[in-house]
Amino acid sequence: MWAAALTLAASPSYYLSGTLMSAGRMYSTRREAEKNLIERALQFANLKFPGEAGQAVELWRPVCTRPESTSLNELTNDHVDLNKWLVKITGRQIIRGRRQFVWRLDTLAEVLKLAEHCVVEIHPRYENASKLRECFSITAPSVEAAYAYAVGLLIDRKKRWARLVRRCEWQDCGRFFLSKAVRGGGGGERMCSEACRRAAKSWSSKRSRSS
Ligand SMILES: [Zn+2]
Repeated sequence: MWAAALTLAASPSYYLSGTLMSAGRMYSTRREAEKNLIERALQFANLKFPGEAGQAVELWRPVCTRPESTSLNELTNDHVDLNKWLVKITGRQIIRGRRQFVWRLDTLAEVLKLAEHCVVEIHPRYENASKLRECFSITAPSVEAAYAYAVGLLIDRKKRWARLVRRCEWQDCGRFFLSKAVRGGGGGERMCSEACRRAAKSWSSKRSRSS
């Protein structure tokens, strides 16, 4: 009897009702759920529109209830708006480990209004017989709400996402990415990939040879 109860509790599909469980949601720690949403938003921002717009629907499917109902026009607007936000955020300096005044960006209220219908679900699961683990999932009613929530997380003063979000400094790239965790005051990664680091390095050594 007890074993059966444990099995039931360990499976979210027995606990949840309605459409959320049928969409095959992923459950993880709050940090992982937030990171997943932010990374998805950054990938979306990095798509080249209109050429790669078709990838956006699949990208958002695990988070959004019906991403396919978003028109190309709306997707394009979301893409433009999100890029503007990320440029603003990453344009703020990081001083002593803090992205300066990022929470003061003027239209914060507007962005959070878009995100207000997002659902953060907490599902308790047994880790073992004496330990409960909280598992999270984030669901958004639209692509707009999903990216807006990601922006909200990035500018939340209490969280550390603002200082981890970066724009690749290699001139031919400029993609947005999350830097590896930063310890202490500053640091972190300036470029999004090994390829960009190599390209920047060979460019600067060529330049110093020719001068
Ligand atoms: Zn790069």
